[in-house]
Amino acid sequence: MEKLVIAIDGYSSCGKSTVAKAVARRLGLPYVDSGAMYRAVTLYFLNNEIPIPQNDKSEYNYKKHLGDIDIQFEINPNNGISEIVLNGKNVESEIRKMRVSKSVSQFSTLPSVRKMLVEIQRNMGAKQGLVMDGRDIGTVVFPNADLKFFMTASGEVRAKRRYEELMARGLEITMDEVQTNLNYRDYQDSHREISPLKQAEDAIVLDNSAMNQDEQLDFVMKYVEQWRKNVST
Ligand code: C5P
Repeated sequence: MEKLVIAIDGYSSCGKSTVAKAVARRLGLPYVDSGAMYRAVTLYFLNNEIPIPQNDKSEYNYKKHLGDIDIQFEINPNNGISEIVLNGKNVESEIRKMRVSKSVSQFSTLPSVRKMLVEIQRNMGAKQGLVMDGRDIGTVVFPNADLKFFMTASGEVRAKRRYEELMARGLEITMDEVQTNLNYRDYQDSHREISPLKQAEDAIVLDNSAMNQDEQLDFVMKYVEQWRKNVST
């Protein structure tokens, strides 16, 4: 297995995880969904009735719980895809619910939460190559990643994709709710003080508004081939 670290960042519902999973499968590398980690921490806080952070900057209420949060990934034997486990319980479905989507961007502003998760993410990459998607992977988690992509797509395409994904999971939701949540998270994620979502200077832009999944995989693989040529010369 190559020690190749690929960082994929971008706005909500750009199809980052679909491309990242396909690339990881093609290269035989692990795929890590960093958003699932922020969602799992959020789920823990919500389940324990810890209030959503406001702008008071006091972190004590959150920090004291971090030692009780254990996050792991396990491979689902039915589809071969890694799923998130919070304190021993598989929460892959639960973290996708609107309840979590609505507050994850606020919990993600907490420096202590980011510090804990970035450390876990870096450790995962230190052992082996991987494909990781998120908001700050190419800028903060792996600033020296071998390849960085910044994904974007039109707002309409993104809302439609997320709506269809949630419907397929059997969640009751309206297109309006999806659109409002995406706009809200994009704004919060790109305007927070710590590790805001932004394109790394050396990231390759992938606008997939009019691309199918095969085309996106081919797009990334072209750069992987180029990387292989560069490292072998
Ligand atoms: O990727 P996903 O949409 O599941 O991420 C959920 C939320 O987690 C994002 O809207 C963002 O607030 C947060 N996140 C983050 N940094 C990452 C990944 C996700 O702040 N690397």
